Amino acid sequence: MSQNDLFQIKTNETVGRYAVASQALKAGDVIFSEIPFAYGPKSDSPCLCLGCHSPVECSYLCSKCSWPVCGPDCESLQVHKDNECQVFSSSGAKFQPVPDPTELCLQYECVTPLRVLLAKERDPKRWDEEVANMEAHNDKRRSKPIWEYNQHNIVEYLRGPCKLSRFPEELVHTVCGILEINAFEARTPSCYMIRCLFPKLAILSHNCVSNIHHAVDCQANGEIGDCRVTVRAAIDIPKDGELFSSYTYSLWPTLIRREFLRESKFFECTCPRCSDKTELGTHMSSLKCQKCDNGVILSVNPLEDVGEWACTHCDYKTHGGAIRRVFAAIQNDLDQLEYVCGAEGIQSRENVYKKYKSVLHPKNAYLTMLRSALSQLYGKAEGYTLEDLPDVVLERKLEMCVQLLEVLDVIEPGLSRIRGITLYELHAPMMVLARHQYQYDAITKEEFREQLKKSLETLGKAVEILIKEPLSQPEGQLGQTAKMSYDHLLENFDVLIETA
Ligand SMILES: [Zn+2]
Ligand SMILES: [Zn+2]
Ligand SMILES: [Zn+2]
Ligand SMILES: [Zn+2]
Repeated sequence: MSQNDLFQIKTNETVGRYAVASQALKAGDVIFSEIPFAYGPKSDSPCLCLGCHSPVECSYLCSKCSWPVCGPDCESLQVHKDNECQVFSSSGAKFQPVPDPTELCLQYECVTPLRVLLAKERDPKRWDEEVANMEAHNDKRRSKPIWEYNQHNIVEYLRGPCKLSRFPEELVHTVCGILEINAFEARTPSCYMIRCLFPKLAILSHNCVSNIHHAVDCQANGEIGDCRVTVRAAIDIPKDGELFSSYTYSLWPTLIRREFLRESKFFECTCPRCSDKTELGTHMSSLKCQKCDNGVILSVNPLEDVGEWACTHCDYKTHGGAIRRVFAAIQNDLDQLEYVCGAEGIQSRENVYKKYKSVLHPKNAYLTMLRSALSQLYGKAEGYTLEDLPDVVLERKLEMCVQLLEVLDVIEPGLSRIRGITLYELHAPMMVLARHQYQYDAITKEEFREQLKKSLETLGKAVEILIKEPLSQPEGQLGQTAKMSYDHLLENFDVLIETA
């Protein structure tokens, strides 16, 4: 380990490997950066170009291997040409035409495991040092449906039609397991999800409140070592403090996070957030009691998924199974809206918000997710730009950002992308509302100056976070925009006051 390393790997018999800060870290410090051992399509991928990983209609096929790519440029990208292209073309394993290329395509499941296996042959030293000891949980996966599934879709396909019997069955299963348990999602510049295997990042233990921030710079220039990850301290971390990443979606409530971690990562999370009935005071799992006035329904023991839930004020009781069904119904409503944007996206989300407002605690995870989406749509969607919005709606956007930040400060503290975006969304209504109030004499010039200053400070905090994001990603682009408007506002601050 070089002297520059800001972290140290430790081993403990019960939890295995973990990492600690080898010196006191300040929020924003780069702890390490690494290129993936391999990257490629996710396991539930639709048809995509094997060069740049953008969705394709499968109308152009690689001239060598006959698998879908965008065109001649993409087929010669190293990540395809030096990987599966050689295997598919020499074995004659052809892509089978599919009726709908936007649907999940099982033929893609083998691609990323194959890239890992080929990387192992290219770089056996890195495999031995960094990948071979990653958790694959073959013991636990062997009895699950996923094992049989991988056996047919990946193991037998690679060893049969692809003529790769040089890779033993058990090794292919191990690679599948390593990917399923350790791979991180990343976005290509055109915003399509892929998965990357980052061996160092995977050493960090999980915690439902992460203290590091990782950003993947997918340039999609098609080189094998493309998609570098940079890991920073999200908050100040003391020397010897453990580094935690999160393997789950931080806006989910405890029941859902723990279920996901159990089923896909094979462990029971007992982190402080999961262990706390109120999720560290955020109430992301809490419901409103329907039997009394001010009661909140909480899990009696949040580490027991089917255990009892009880009201804080009356003797109403229910159980985890019933709560799980409520969450599933709401999630189902949210899933329907995933790709609905613009004015319709606002209306339909406001409807779902209204539907569940009386059932859920105001800070509940699902209302938080809706706030996150709505806070970004108000001000952007057609007919809802900042200039269009009446003050009451501007106030709603502002209030949603503030409520969202109260939750994010706890579950995504410090330099998190979602905090950066929300701070950016917050600064604009602050500024516009202040100007309106000043224009109709509701506030004095001095008050106007103060409010403008607060808005500028909020924008400054957003810049501080977003400016560190890679330019290949939308947050990095937003960081540039935010920085420009921050500089402009700072420079013209007095003029803005005088001309308002
Ligand atoms: Zn392409
Ligand atoms: Zn090819
Ligand atoms: Zn947890
Ligand atoms: Zn009650």
